[in-house]
Amino acid sequence: MEFGKCLCGAIEYSFDRSKVISAHHCHCKDCQRATGSGKATIIIMSKKYFAVNQDPKFFEVQGEQGNHVVRGFCPNCGSGMFSYLKEHPNMVFVKAGTLNDSSWLKIDSNFFTDSSCDWNRPVEGVKNHNANPGLTSNLMMAIKSLIK
Ligand SMILES: [Zn+2]
Ligand SMILES: [Zn+2]
Repeated sequence: MEFGKCLCGAIEYSFDRSKVISAHHCHCKDCQRATGSGKATIIIMSKKYFAVNQDPKFFEVQGEQGNHVVRGFCPNCGSGMFSYLKEHPNMVFVKAGTLNDSSWLKIDSNFFTDSSCDWNRPVEGVKNHNANPGLTSNLMMAIKSLIK
């Protein structure tokens, strides 16, 4: 099992690494603002394999493609913990930096590379998606493969 927590430790979660579908660097402007950095690094999995000791404080915003992104923060220390799309509530996007040990993580692709900052360019050697075209269809594929 993998474990993670917020900065103050109030929110703790766990999941089985073998259930991870994919991992991505998201360079969209919303992720930059929400994290205060150049990108958010997210790990996608089905919510049924993700356990958390308490709900974070959720904040919802409409994403660039019309999806409603719901980001969860620790109400005590403000750490960004995990998020989900309101349109796909059975999938969860865990912020990789909150893992206790993320040394095993492999990044599959970069999202929204057009809005990446000069001081935090997309990593090389993985697929780039400019406007994140495949996110919704990839999620639908992933959901289908999980319920096969
Ligand atoms: Zn906290
Ligand atoms: Zn983003």
